[in-house]
Amino acid sequence: MKIKFYGTRGSIPVCEKDFQKYGGNTTCLYVRMNNRIIIIDAGTGIRSLGKELIDSEDSIYNEIYLAFSHFHWDHIQGFPFFLPAYDISRKLIISALGKNVESLDLKTILGGQMKQEYFPIPMEQMGAKIEFLKVESQEYSGPDFHVKTTEHNHPGKAHSYRIESEGKSVVFCTDIEHTNGIDGRIIEIARDADILIHDAQYTPAELEDKRNWGHSSYSQAIEVAKRANVKKLILTHHDPDHNDQFLDEMEQECKDLFEDVCLARELMEFEL
Ligand SMILES: [Zn+2]
Ligand SMILES: [Zn+2]
Repeated sequence: MKIKFYGTRGSIPVCEKDFQKYGGNTTCLYVRMNNRIIIIDAGTGIRSLGKELIDSEDSIYNEIYLAFSHFHWDHIQGFPFFLPAYDISRKLIISALGKNVESLDLKTILGGQMKQEYFPIPMEQMGAKIEFLKVESQEYSGPDFHVKTTEHNHPGKAHSYRIESEGKSVVFCTDIEHTNGIDGRIIEIARDADILIHDAQYTPAELEDKRNWGHSSYSQAIEVAKRANVKKLILTHHDPDHNDQFLDEMEQECKDLFEDVCLARELMEFEL
């Protein structure tokens, strides 16, 4: 299994030069398994991923699974710029999680930002075969992978994912606000994972002023990692006001608290 970060920024893309080390694009994670790829979230980072996929001869990219943590703008705004969606030879399977989510809603959510008031090409004219998949179960399996999900607290709700394949496990948990202590569902889904990717938009001090904004501090992410016994912790959804120097210092503080931790950088990749 391979994972690669195409977007690590939270809330809104940033392009200033002192933000380039950790990256300015909003959330997009690429996960490659033996016979399948899954993309989680379509923040602005999905644009460069799309360009790579479209240039590749690899037939694995003919069928692309796109899943979402949730549908806040920073997690969907790259979708209209995802080139494989304009290629008639490709199939996109876009999944929505949860019993109450209608696949029609998903079409409205993604297509809504492509209405003529906002974007020149409507979603129906993109070209690729787009299938909307409503996933009601919290777990689903393919021939060589297993995905577990859990809902977590965020304004409008969001979902965490655990993807297991080839005996390895990656957990993706962003846009989470822990209330009344650490959310036990996250400890459970992250249990013994090889990699936990966790929201760490704030420092513990900043979190005090950002209650109900839907995010975590790095110390909460570390607490999850410790209690869930994960091997490696990667912190993401960097605040758009945190420049490289700030994040360098934050990473150093985290390293004093957890053995194997780093802040996600755009285009950082890991083989498991
Ligand atoms: Zn977000
Ligand atoms: Zn959000």
